[in-house]
Amino acid sequence: MKTSEAKFLLVFKYGKRCGICGKKIKSFRDATVDHIIPLNRGGKNTIMNYQLAHEFCNIEKGNLMPEEYAYLKRYKRFRTLKCFLSKILLIRRRKVKPNDHRLPSENP
Ligand SMILES: [Zn+2]
Repeated sequence: MKTSEAKFLLVFKYGKRCGICGKKIKSFRDATVDHIIPLNRGGKNTIMNYQLAHEFCNIEKGNLMPEEYAYLKRYKRFRTLKCFLSKILLIRRRKVKPNDHRLPSENP
């Protein structure tokens, strides 16, 4: 089956949605055919194992199984949140200056 044929069938079956991120695929050119279970992980080259995906999502998923990719995504989000929280804590710590004991009147 040609890629263009597969794409057409997938749009017909699932609509213009990315099977990986779930967002809409705006242009047909952006759409790629992703193997849900990668070929080198035992996935088959059949329409049942195909899904439409953004090119970016497809590249990012690579040879991961769907659940592995979901786990990675969740972990990444958690790391971003941790980074964000630590930044907030740093800013707060900077505002409090424990070494600044002088009162404003003591300044020259
Ligand atoms: Zn996507």
